[in-house]
Amino acid sequence: MSPSPVPLVDRHTHLEGALDPAWVRDEARRRGLGLPASLETLWAGRAVPFDGFIEAFLYGAALLDSREAVREALLAVARRTQAAGGTGFDLWASPHFLVVHRGQIPLEAFWRGLEDGLAEARTWGLRGCVVLDAVNHLGPRHGQAVLDLVLPELPAFVKGFSTGGLERCPFRDWAPVFDRARAAGLRIAAHAGENGPGSNVREAVLEGGVSRIVHGLRANDATLALLAERRIPVDVCPSSNGALAPDVAPHPLPRMLVAGVRCALGTDDPGLVPCDLGTEFDAALDMGLDDLALARLRQNGAEDAWCLAEAAP
Ligand SMILES: [Zn+2]
Repeated sequence: MSPSPVPLVDRHTHLEGALDPAWVRDEARRRGLGLPASLETLWAGRAVPFDGFIEAFLYGAALLDSREAVREALLAVARRTQAAGGTGFDLWASPHFLVVHRGQIPLEAFWRGLEDGLAEARTWGLRGCVVLDAVNHLGPRHGQAVLDLVLPELPAFVKGFSTGGLERCPFRDWAPVFDRARAAGLRIAAHAGENGPGSNVREAVLEGGVSRIVHGLRANDATLALLAERRIPVDVCPSSNGALAPDVAPHPLPRMLVAGVRCALGTDDPGLVPCDLGTEFDAALDMGLDDLALARLRQNGAEDAWCLAEAAP
């Protein structure tokens, strides 16, 4: 990528999906575990069914059972970002899944691992923040449980709250959870229009009140106009989209930009679907975007990044 004064930010990546494959191999060997075929297949750059992707994601997540492992996971994000010329990342993480659902690490150790990693990354010139990821299909009671877990002692590096997973629960049902998170100073995002219909994007904005969309791939022209009008940022991850939403073709990123949507690029799960910021900008170039559009992606990526923002608006 050409030199630019605008910070290059990975606008969407998951802690559990961004592990360094070499570290995962070492940990598996140390623990006497075999590697699932789905993970080897993904690392080889080949597609697997969605179930296989989840299996691979959960395999890595199970290794995050100590402060040191969480620190290593965060540093994998930092190293990958820096190697691609980036200086910031908005990192989705799922403390409720690891601490309560799996019961594999105390919350305090999880936060300290993230804090250690963020502090070290800062010495390399990188800025990062954490966005809590709740599981859409587990519904708003789960969302409230996530907030019950984290709100009593929320670290300052947690800047947002988001839904992920399968888009099965209507966003209007999530609105009370989002309201509570917002009242606690968090910004609100949602994975929408990825594995669910494009109408989810509209509902997330109008009925859930979310201020940022992850993917938004299936949004129709009217919804893109809504996103543009409201200046709602959209995080787009071409490699991940190709692997997990292959039916959405051609990729709508050029159409979104023409509509005036504030799109930016992210890597999503680069420890599973091999990619980095460089491959994502290359993918955008391959979609026919010109230098101006690529510069716009970078500019949006910095301007709307939560890791570079000082406080919730
Ligand atoms: Zn994601």
